[in-house]
Amino acid sequence: MSYRTEDIAYVQAAEPAASTPTAQQRSTAEYRALDAAHHIHPFSDMGALNRSGSRVIVKAHGVYLWDSEGNKIIDGMAGLWCVNVGYGRKELADAAYGQMQELPYYNTFFKTTHPPVIELSASLAELAPESFNHFFYCNSGSEGNDTVLRIVHRYWATLGKHSKKVVISRKNGYHGSTIAGGTLGGMEYMHEQMPSKVENIVHIDQPYFFGEAKSNQTPEEFALARAQQLEAKILETGAQNVAAFIGEPFQGAGGVIFPASTYWPEIERICRKYDILLVADEVIGGFGRTGEWFAHQHFGFEPDLITMAKGLTSGYVPMGAVGLNDRVAKAIVENGEFNHGLTYSGHPVAAAVAVANLKLLRDEKIVERVKTDTGPYFQKKLRDTFAHHPIVGEIAGAGLVAGLQLAEEPASRKRFANGGDVGGVCRDFCFNGNLIMRASGDRMLLSPPLVISRQEIDELVSKAKKAIDATAQQLGISQR
Ligand SMILES: *Cc1c(COP(=O)(O)O)cnc(C)c1O
Repeated sequence: MSYRTEDIAYVQAAEPAASTPTAQQRSTAEYRALDAAHHIHPFSDMGALNRSGSRVIVKAHGVYLWDSEGNKIIDGMAGLWCVNVGYGRKELADAAYGQMQELPYYNTFFKTTHPPVIELSASLAELAPESFNHFFYCNSGSEGNDTVLRIVHRYWATLGKHSKKVVISRKNGYHGSTIAGGTLGGMEYMHEQMPSKVENIVHIDQPYFFGEAKSNQTPEEFALARAQQLEAKILETGAQNVAAFIGEPFQGAGGVIFPASTYWPEIERICRKYDILLVADEVIGGFGRTGEWFAHQHFGFEPDLITMAKGLTSGYVPMGAVGLNDRVAKAIVENGEFNHGLTYSGHPVAAAVAVANLKLLRDEKIVERVKTDTGPYFQKKLRDTFAHHPIVGEIAGAGLVAGLQLAEEPASRKRFANGGDVGGVCRDFCFNGNLIMRASGDRMLLSPPLVISRQEIDELVSKAKKAIDATAQQLGISQR
């Protein structure tokens, strides 16, 4: 990157700020130079990225993004699984603008509260499952899971069960990237770079059928066996020492892994048998992704705590939350001070945006549409398109989320060697074809805005097919 300090001074002097701060003010080359010089991206190899240059996204509407070169890109990932109502909804912008003028900030620490956080809590209580009537706010999913740990430990302490400290989660689960979120998650490559891990967190294996089942196991048998690992881990640890189990109803970042129907009922049974709190990390699954308001409703189990973020505000502003069921809430509410909080817990602007977002999801029946119309249409389209594709081994998902397993021999579940390389190749083809589809190892992930139309689904799936075809061709695997 041929970047020098003088260039920036020149660029800044030559291009005064336009009246709209979001308007494109610089050339792509200038943006890239400044980005490379000063911005460290999350989960990125910055050396490699700075050599190739970032794609600069300048605006968005509906399910489409535009880059600084004027390319129109279909966003098959709703940003990072979060822009549920799609881009450019004026209702959300108006909610933020109005709230910023009325009361841009006030805290909720010192015996104070404010209308947006009250409205949001009442809305969440209405749309969450019956037993969920209390909510604690933060700014992200990671902070939500930190908060979950605090609540879980406080809960058992108030009951005098001080030894219940161990939280069980899963390998290849994702629960965020703070130290606690990263420890709860089962991503080895993240653990490797952490200075230390949070104590009392242990992992069991994930319900990843395609990659980890024995050749003679059915999906149901395999999922049941994986759930029973929870029981084995509890017995090994001693139930008197186990506080909670946390899992994403379906693993998102781990590859959109949907466990078979035997999995969650068994997890729930085990948690109840040994008196262990069950936490559903709904950061991706929440707010309509599967066609239900929460993904645990799709899988038919009842958690004690729910982590929320992403779709809560459709990503327009940051916000996370933890929902507590009545049993847990009672312990927290009736036992003196809970020593946890964030400056921006229940931030009025974020809360106002969340209220507007939930209103859109409800008034426009967006979740119902995912369940009865666009979700089934998307799932069928994917199956019609890829069921016999020579490098697609599994199509997982429900509603508007899907994972496509790329594999060398789909029938025998033989995966590609060098896990992840083929996914990377495919992702590059998507990128060049103006489609955002994410790769997790060799699984290609789709999670479009929930407002996507049938016609846009057709475009999304046809672009995905082009990219996967091109990947097969590059590997020398011919079409059948
Ligand atoms: C994204 C994600 C998180 C972390 O949320 P952040 O807002 O990035 O901190 C936690 N859990 C799940 C399931 C997620 O997908």
